[in-house]
Amino acid sequence: MIVVMKPGAAAEDIKHVVDLVHEFGLKDHVIYGTDRTVIACVGDKRTVEKDAIENAPMVEKVVPILAPYKMASLEVKREKTKICIGPERFPLGGVKIGVIAGPCAVESREQILTTARAIKAAGGVGLRGGAFKPRTSPYTYQGMGKAGLELLAEARAETGLAIVTEAVAVEQVEVCAEYADVIQIGARNMQHYPLLEAAGKAGKPVLLKRGMSATLEEFLLAAEYIINAGNPNVILCERGIRTFETYVRNTLPLAIIPALRERTHLPIVIDPSHGTGHAHMVPSMSLAAVATGADGVILECHPDPERATSDGAQSITPQTLNELMGRLKRVAEAVDREL
Ligand code: PEP
Ligand code: MN
Repeated sequence: MIVVMKPGAAAEDIKHVVDLVHEFGLKDHVIYGTDRTVIACVGDKRTVEKDAIENAPMVEKVVPILAPYKMASLEVKREKTKICIGPERFPLGGVKIGVIAGPCAVESREQILTTARAIKAAGGVGLRGGAFKPRTSPYTYQGMGKAGLELLAEARAETGLAIVTEAVAVEQVEVCAEYADVIQIGARNMQHYPLLEAAGKAGKPVLLKRGMSATLEEFLLAAEYIINAGNPNVILCERGIRTFETYVRNTLPLAIIPALRERTHLPIVIDPSHGTGHAHMVPSMSLAAVATGADGVILECHPDPERATSDGAQSITPQTLNELMGRLKRVAEAVDREL
């Protein structure tokens, strides 16, 4: 349920309600809006004396949260969540469109630094790259591990780009949080609940990829796990789902953007690389994502895609990225956004 405070409620009024909520065995999340404060209370509501809270000083009303995902829902917070990422604190979820790009995997110092410089020069705000890779086959490249994280940190120091990298296992979350600006939770791990909770405690924004067979509701409930563990900074990433279709690696449902907008305040980023599997489809799907209202795109970009250790077929070159940026800017402006 949500306790809506009257405009002008003082800190002690809010504290009084929070104490009551704790007495009833619920967890509180206080959200300070532009004109009023709301206190979202989650837990077993059978234990609650709703009247006691409703009669507390400066409480306007107590309303139930109908959505199963509570903190992620628009019922709790109507304003879009803006998440500032990286050393330059780029505000993802605001008016500006954020372009994050980089190789599927960190492969070498030269590869990551060359790519990072090109992304920065093109106007990107984030550098992606896996140091720990969740590969379908155990015999394929598994990533550089901690050495890869060190290279990503070096690329950030030189370019100012925000580092986005995946933690595949609970025990990798801490080291990823130490080196990166955004922890990615991959599609295969969207319902790995201990990992979601660990990411929720890591103190860095989380980019949560939709599972390849997860429904929209399951996706938002996975985000809820991270928020409930204490981290409100969750970026939702659609990366395509598995269907019967074979001309693409995954089917990229851009209709999830308006569907999510009706349900959640969290920023939405689209990954057209995994969402199609083909580099030649990435520019047009990126433009479509921005036209449809995405807050950003995350693209695989490699200086030599033919020799990439993973996902080369869906990686665009820095030159293609550079050309795409100009077109993305025009589309962004057409939908009242900036790039
Ligand atoms: C990736 O970003 O390289 C990746 C493995 O993505 P996904 O989890 O969406 O498959
Ligand atoms: Mn990949």
